[in-house]
Amino acid sequence: MNLADVVRDFPTEESCETFLATMRWPDGVECVACQSKKLTQTVRRGKISKKTGLRGPDQRLYECASCRKQFSVRNGTLFGDTHLPLKQWFMAIAVVCQAKKGISSNQMARTLGVTVKTGWYLCHRIREAMHEDNPEALQGMIQEMDETYVGGKYRGPEPNRFHAKNKEIVIGIKERGGDVRFFHAQDVKSGTLARYIRENISPEAGMICTDELTSYPGAVKQSGLNIEHRTVNHTQREYVVGDVTTNSIESAFSLFKRGLVGSYHRLSVKHLSRYLHEFQFKANNRRNPALFQDVLKGIAAKPRLPLRTLIDGPDAESQSPA
Ligand SMILES: [Zn+2]
Repeated sequence: MNLADVVRDFPTEESCETFLATMRWPDGVECVACQSKKLTQTVRRGKISKKTGLRGPDQRLYECASCRKQFSVRNGTLFGDTHLPLKQWFMAIAVVCQAKKGISSNQMARTLGVTVKTGWYLCHRIREAMHEDNPEALQGMIQEMDETYVGGKYRGPEPNRFHAKNKEIVIGIKERGGDVRFFHAQDVKSGTLARYIRENISPEAGMICTDELTSYPGAVKQSGLNIEHRTVNHTQREYVVGDVTTNSIESAFSLFKRGLVGSYHRLSVKHLSRYLHEFQFKANNRRNPALFQDVLKGIAAKPRLPLRTLIDGPDAESQSPA
């Protein structure tokens, strides 16, 4: 579903609410407090603004017959955090889904005719919804793992670990021909890498391909997985040896980096994970025809995000100096 589809299919706020309700409660609307399905619908007239004298939009509410709770379809979800009309939310989701290399808050603001601040909040909430909680372990026989460096002040040729000062570390694991996982890591020590291997690769996997970084052999051993470790030696310009290559995880990284350069300009370290969630989700759903619907469901399923958490970013805690 692209932006034009959204404009055509959802002409009114009510049409958005109806669609969102079917996404949120596929088995029929239920009370957010007691899960009862005995509900009645009421309309609360919009309040008259003291500033403008204009009446705000009417609110369609459900009322629970068992516990008397009144709630709207946005209640208790990420949608409930703003007063923005659902139609603008839907348009924002369509825009994010379509933007292969990501979209900046400025661009979002211009596209929707909202302030840059609103554009920023929208983009970050949508990224939050794209976060896959506890995804399944990567199953494929061949896994590729690699590290890359982003952000920071270094300018010059392709950065690597020798230029890593001021840079953020991103770890990627990709099942050959399958899904990818990205992580904002604190370091590339064996113990850290071992944890990513253990938590993301199925014990059934047969081989893991990495570059020559010295922490990988120890990491694979410490992971406890019975998996063959093969390396390509990039410093000796070795990229493909039979089945052994890290080319697919590297292409995944390069799409992410093009997105960073093209859309985000200045990357805020404390939000790096959210950008990674977005790119991971898009990479893993590139052939999903119901991408728009799935993001919508994601937003409806995520609890509200306190403003402080949104602004501080998911990586803030781990980044603060000890
Ligand atoms: Zn109830």
